[in-house]
Amino acid sequence: MNNTKESSIIDRHGLIIAGACSAESRQQLLETAQGVAATGKVHILRAGVWKPRTKPGSFEGVGDIALEWLAEAKALTGLPTATEVANATHVEKALQSGVDLLWIGARTTSNPFSVQEIADALEGSDVPVLVKNPLTADAELWIGAVERLRKSGVRHIGLIHRGFSGYDIVGYRNAPLWQVALEVRSRLPELPMLCDPSHICGNRTGLLDVAQQAADLNYSGLIIESHPHPDKALSDAEQQITPTELGELLDRIIWRSVSTDSIVCNSELERLRGAIDRLDDELFSLLAQRMEIAEQIGRLKRQNNLTILQSGRWQEVVERVLERTDRYGLSRETVEKILEAIHIESIERQNRIMH
Ligand code: PEP
Ligand code: MN
Repeated sequence: MNNTKESSIIDRHGLIIAGACSAESRQQLLETAQGVAATGKVHILRAGVWKPRTKPGSFEGVGDIALEWLAEAKALTGLPTATEVANATHVEKALQSGVDLLWIGARTTSNPFSVQEIADALEGSDVPVLVKNPLTADAELWIGAVERLRKSGVRHIGLIHRGFSGYDIVGYRNAPLWQVALEVRSRLPELPMLCDPSHICGNRTGLLDVAQQAADLNYSGLIIESHPHPDKALSDAEQQITPTELGELLDRIIWRSVSTDSIVCNSELERLRGAIDRLDDELFSLLAQRMEIAEQIGRLKRQNNLTILQSGRWQEVVERVLERTDRYGLSRETVEKILEAIHIESIERQNRIMH
């Protein structure tokens, strides 16, 4: 056996996984499978067999019987199948019934015991596994799950960004926090990263925007929920769309390429990037000058026995800059974040001078 990694079904760029949040009945799953296959744009059929619900009493999936329906849907449409696994028994049953791709749900990724149990159960199998982000914005926990799978010899691993739970999230069911997913992607650049607009949005209207944003950020694919009669879905009804709507949505997403052969475009890009690099140099040299002055202030405070933090002064700095925010065309939130970072660095420097 050679060690070079052959590619798997999760490696294609523009990968689309779509289908039911939950397999509810044979009829619903087969109808979903035929509908998503008919779009001609879906590569893998998804369906939840065992559903981790937040509260007891919610629909928890039909269980093992749905594995037979998945196999039937695959025979009918030719689409490979994917389902969520949360423990070793799920893994064994899914593999026995020929499911082509497994994913680990957000609640499960959050629990290292469960991830380890799944990793152990996967030893010796060659099934690809997608790891959803944990519920909280914890990059280490997400990466840790990938490491556990790798240690068990799982060779084909991908990531799903499904957003993060939190309190008071506005506009989404789960906050996208793109920067967290991008950090994980930059630390595991060899892994495909899919976006799950359905669970990020929790509604139907936001799907296109989130999917397009993911495509623009060069995600490798999407996983989207679809149901023949979304309003009647037994789980996640608000966010599911019909296979026809799915086809329309997928038609509208523009997958841009990361590079071009156009000489005009490339030279213009090079010019603009050069301008950005020069501005970054200036920005940081100005910042260094600012820190130098902060240190001078620190020395002055020490000589005169003044505290580092003087009430009111920092507020004044913030207010002054924020008053100009409109003129700069920067959002208030961004300006506040930048100032905060500058403030922390200044205080640290003054602290060093004091001690
Ligand atoms: C799902 O994909 O239906 C699901 C339960 O998702 P998550 O683990 O992201 O909540
Ligand atoms: Mn769901």
